[in-house]
Amino acid sequence: MPEVFVGLGANLGEPAAQLKTALLAIGALPQTTVKKVSAFYRSAPIGPAGQPDYCNAVAELETALGPQALLDALLAIEDRAGRLRGERWGARVLDLDLLLYGQVVCSTARLTLPHPELALRDFVLQPLAEIAPDVKVPLMGRARDLLAQLPAPTLAEWA
Ligand code: AMP
Repeated sequence: MPEVFVGLGANLGEPAAQLKTALLAIGALPQTTVKKVSAFYRSAPIGPAGQPDYCNAVAELETALGPQALLDALLAIEDRAGRLRGERWGARVLDLDLLLYGQVVCSTARLTLPHPELALRDFVLQPLAEIAPDVKVPLMGRARDLLAQLPAPTLAEWA
């Protein structure tokens, strides 16, 4: 089975509770198990000013769903959480990103792997490196090395 990682984020409503609900929904997908979940971290929002902080985490899955079927299932979970697709980087009830699907590299209209912003974001790399420091991000290198290349890679836990 490929190593599959999903990024979770929320900054409206009850962010930590929404992440927990999303993890239950992901674990309830057909032939899918949540193997590991990182700590929940607090990150400053990017994009439009005046938004609340984000709660972020990364989960490792075991799944028999293919990459596109998994992405579709994640987007359906977002929709059920009441996510409104508004302005880019706007505040959100739930954001689910397919970060890595094994060593798959692809770029279609609907799915890019690895996730294009993975290596740029502390709120992705810190939880990823926490649960899988040696995972190899195709074309880019190990999670722990990518994290070390960020200017200030230390987020506080959500708590
Ligand atoms: P966003 O709301 O910024 O998370 O973007 C969601 C859109 O990005 C969806 O319509 C997806 O089809 C597309 N997308 C492309 N690659 C990915 C990926 N690796 N993970 C999540 N969404 C993706």
